[in-house]
Amino acid sequence: MNDMRDLYQQMILDHNQKPRNFGKVDDHTHHASGENPLCGDHLELTLLVEDDIIRDIKFNGGGCAISTASASIMTTVIKGKSTTEAMDLFDQFHTMITTGEADMDALGKLVALADIHKFPARVKCAMLSWRTMESSIEGIEEIATTE
Ligand code: ZN
Repeated sequence: MNDMRDLYQQMILDHNQKPRNFGKVDDHTHHASGENPLCGDHLELTLLVEDDIIRDIKFNGGGCAISTASASIMTTVIKGKSTTEAMDLFDQFHTMITTGEADMDALGKLVALADIHKFPARVKCAMLSWRTMESSIEGIEEIATTE
């Protein structure tokens, strides 16, 4: 399993160094800002949602490698999905990074972050983009992760 672990490490490094979907969706329909005060991570998400499909999503902001990589990977995974599918992935991702249990088929490249469950202090870093995405869908424009 070491090869897989190296692959996942590389994916996290790569998304951190070259974040995908970084910036702002100009004609966005949803947006939210999220902050993780414990680590100093902050990000802003803009989404274009049409007919309940996430047509476009971008993030900007800054933080640790885990928060940036998680946001970058999240945007690549949920772009083109329905908001319901995105929230289903939210639940599965949350389960994975808190328990280590993962449905590989459903989670796809998100499993790169599975080892986070061994580092409880970093869970908020990895969840920040997801919680911000959830808030934007629910119409809440600012969140701070405190749980
Ligand atoms: Zn962080």
